[in-house]
Amino acid sequence: MSSATLGQIIPCKAAVSWEAGKPLVIEQVEVAPPQAMEARIKIKYTSLCHTDLYFWEAKGQTPLFPRIFGHEAAGIVESIGEGVTNLQVGDHVLPVFTGECGECRHCKSEESNMCELLRINTDRGVMINDGKSRFSINGNPINHFVGTSTFSEYTVIHSGCLAKINPLAPLDKVCILSCGISTGLGATLNVAKPKKGSSVAIFGLGAVGLAAAEGARIAGASRIIGIDLNPKRFEEAKKFGITEFVNPMDHARPIQEVLTEMTNGGVDRSVECTGHIDAMISAFECVHDGWGVAVLVGVPNKDVVFKTKPINLLNERTLKGTFFGNYKPRTDIPSVVNMYMNKELELDKFITHRISFSEINKAFEYMLKGEGLRCIISMED
Ligand code: NAD
Ligand code: ZN
Ligand code: ZN
Repeated sequence: MSSATLGQIIPCKAAVSWEAGKPLVIEQVEVAPPQAMEARIKIKYTSLCHTDLYFWEAKGQTPLFPRIFGHEAAGIVESIGEGVTNLQVGDHVLPVFTGECGECRHCKSEESNMCELLRINTDRGVMINDGKSRFSINGNPINHFVGTSTFSEYTVIHSGCLAKINPLAPLDKVCILSCGISTGLGATLNVAKPKKGSSVAIFGLGAVGLAAAEGARIAGASRIIGIDLNPKRFEEAKKFGITEFVNPMDHARPIQEVLTEMTNGGVDRSVECTGHIDAMISAFECVHDGWGVAVLVGVPNKDVVFKTKPINLLNERTLKGTFFGNYKPRTDIPSVVNMYMNKELELDKFITHRISFSEINKAFEYMLKGEGLRCIISMED
């Protein structure tokens, strides 16, 4: 890493989203040096998660453009700002959309990863330090996305949103632990917590849902039921320990009724990874009374409302939700990376496409068509 760029603006390529739903454009942007508590990162690999796509489509979300999306990635610290003590130039890092300041009540609580300072904020397009963007084109600022903006060769990120990882970990694989896979895995292992021998329903068999299924397998669930509207998903999902598949399109009645019947009263746990309100309600209503726990992971449209009869809760069902699988990024993610290094967790099967940065719009097309799981975008063409 050259020190020639220290404290200087770096001109580099970034994929800029100028308008909702329009292809990204590779532009020359200027990336300002990191300020207090920030680090500038050279992104090596990034991938597309459905959350990027929702905010790019901006159909059920607040539109904020021009913007540089991207939050699932791996990179190397190019330089650090004043006061950063947990990182050094050259460290390998995973950016995370929800941070860990280490000081607030949430960071000090064993139960929460909702850091007061650095929790996810999808409507902010600037850095918290000075309320400004570190990206510009001809002096005009470009908005950040969830504090990460990884669709750029260089980006500036708060040091609390960077997990320092084992330098031997292959960045072109562990980049998917920076959002989707950790989210799904943690939703099951840390939040749903299925018991050995139990039944688990997974709604949505994209990368997040299949990672949730991996969590169920690791926890020793005996029945893992996968639910998806896209029949192509079932073939892919066979590699993930799912024992049964249900397509809501094949049934005339609500899918929660089908699942309740299949499992003699309901599943022990369910994890919803679709972002669709109907699936969220089904995921709750299909859990067994007395002990069932449903966990919501999918990001909903901002105006939807969750409706269920209160008696469903009175009958001792639990509804929970989670960001990033309740992992604290700096504290917990290095050990999730080591789970991969120790072969306790497989990542290769999640990676279905590889493309170069200049082809980034292809990743959006694959996801829109429901093709494949994760598409790794290499920043070095
Ligand atoms: P994906 O597009 O790869 O997978 C979503 C799957 O859900 C698809 O296979 C789709 O066919 C299926 N689906 C859609 N509607 C459905 C319905 N009504 N019933 C059954 N299946 C349905 O997306 P992904 O990248 O795996 O992300 C999944 C969800 O998780 C998204 O909503 C994303 O925004 C969210 N997410 C949340 C967090 C978090 O921290 N809470 C983190 C990452 C992603
Ligand atoms: Zn994500
Ligand atoms: Zn905090």
